[in-house]
Order: sequence, then structure tokens, then C-alpha cells
Amino acid sequence: MQKAEKIWFDGEFVPWENAQVHVLTHALHYGTAVFEGIRAYECLDGTSSVFRLEEHMVRLVNSAKILGITIPYTAEELMEAAIATLKINKLKGAYIRPLTFIGDGAMGVFPGKNPIRTIIAAWPWGAYLGEEALEKGIRVQTSTYTRPHPNTMMTKSKASGNYVNSVLAKSEALANGFEEAILLDAQGYVSEGSGENIFMVRDGVLYTPNVASVLQGLTRDSIICLAKDMGYELVETVITRDMLYTAEEVFFTGTAAELTPIREIDRRTIGQGRIGEITKILQQEFFNIIKGGNEDYAYWLSRYSI
Ligand SMILES: *Cc1c(COP(=O)(O)O)cnc(C)c1O
Repeated sequence: MQKAEKIWFDGEFVPWENAQVHVLTHALHYGTAVFEGIRAYECLDGTSSVFRLEEHMVRLVNSAKILGITIPYTAEELMEAAIATLKINKLKGAYIRPLTFIGDGAMGVFPGKNPIRTIIAAWPWGAYLGEEALEKGIRVQTSTYTRPHPNTMMTKSKASGNYVNSVLAKSEALANGFEEAILLDAQGYVSEGSGENIFMVRDGVLYTPNVASVLQGLTRDSIICLAKDMGYELVETVITRDMLYTAEEVFFTGTAAELTPIREIDRRTIGQGRIGEITKILQQEFFNIIKGGNEDYAYWLSRYSI
């Protein structure tokens, strides 16, 4: 991992190496933390922009609210802190990781008055699943693990504790020689990847699982907007595992994964076994937008200069 110089920690910048916590941090024991994954990109004109920064910070505040945690900063203050973190580290492009967690104090499940702590780290990070994945697509498996029932874990919160489920699914997929997992929900319908939402194309129509058990990804939202604006029909509905097998195209979306085609699921080739036509069109436009190449979506970008 490529380090940066400084991390924003409870309102102050501290050297990367000094951004530490006590071993009795509540979140370390009980998963009581919420996080975001945000990307900043170098734009075509040489400036930089953070993609959908406000929506990410609002979601962080809401993820915490779902867990009963009040972050002592507004979304706006967190936006400013994120930009300041990019600037102080001279990062033209970066992955940004805000995290709010319950700190140390009392032990036991009830967090009591333990401090609510917040960090924002940023560092250079390329394609999450590899450059080749973006071009050629990846091989995935349906996980033996199920996405939590919406009343088991709070699936709309990007909560650290929820990620044990993702770690299990991802690790299993890698151990089995695949690159990512698709998880089904408690009813057996397709929900999402370990950290990505999923879309499929059938007869030229785009489908994505409805929001019941999925994390409402901002990349998912962006692709839904974009597809509709480009004139595609888009349906949010229930999708079964076998519908994916016979789809013309399937792809993942996420801040980390961006728009990654899926070329194989459970050893069945999807479409032609390479990036699909519509996937490619959406992916190209998505990358154009995040680099500031389409004025219609300029409102998604928070610009800054190094
Ligand atoms: C973060 C996340 C996504 C993707 O959301 P984006 O806002 O597009 O980054 C999808 N699924 C899960 C489980 C996630 O945690």
C-alpha cells in the first residue's frame, strides 16, 4: 500500500504513522464503526475532483445514525476535511477512506459514553480488481454465504461489522480461484458483490436488484441515472441466480470496483465472455464523467487543485 503523509484525525492532521488507537477500542471488539470509500480523480484539464463527495459524506452521517451514533461533524465539515486531506498530501487522485468509530473507555457491548472518533485517510489506489478486469471482465462465484437479512444487520449502513460477511465471501471466492463473489439475500435472490452492486442486461434492458437487501451504492445510483439519460430502459427488481447465467451482460459497480464487467459466473460464460456492448458504453461514459469530460454531470464533482 502506498502511504500518504498525513491523516485527518478528530479535526487535526497527524503523521500517517501516528494515527493509532488503543487495543480496547470498542469498534475493534464489536464492529461499531461506519466508513466510506470515495475516489478523487485527476481531470482532463489537469485539476482534480472528488466524485459525489457530498452524497458520500451524507451517507456516512446516515450510516452512523442507523447505528445510533452521532458524528460530531456535519457532512459539510467532513467534505472540507476530505479536500484538506487531499491537498495536504498533494494527491491529485486518490482513494479516500473516512471512518467513524466508537473509541475506548468502558468495555462491554453497550458503548455508553465512549468517544466517537473520526478519521479521513487518503492514498493513491489504482483499479481495485486490476486494470485488466476493467477491460476483460472477471470470473466470479455465487457465495455459500448469504447477505444478512435486513433485520439481522442494518444493510443500509456501511458498517464495519457488516463487512465480516463480505470478508468471508471474498476470501472464499479467492480461495476457489475466482476474483469476486455474488451474494444472494435471505430469500435466495441476487443481492450484490462483497462490496459492489450488480447489474445485468437482457434483451437490451438493464436490470439491477431492488434496494431491499443491498447497500445503496452511489456508483449504482450514478449508473442508473446515466443509463436512463442515455435512453436505456432500467428496471429495479428481483433477480435470480439463473437469470444472471443467461444474461447478455453482467457487471459490478462500486467506488473501488468502478464499473467492472463479469465474464463468467459459476463456470458459465456470460454473453461472449468479454465486456458487453452496453457495459462498455456505460463504462466509457462513466470514466469520462469522473474526469470532468461531461458538463451535464459537473454537479457530481467537487473540484480542487494541487
Ligand atoms: C460500498 C458498497 C457498495 C458500493 O457503493 P458505492 O457507493 O458505489 O461505492 C456496494 N455494496 C456494498 C456492500 C458496499 O459496502
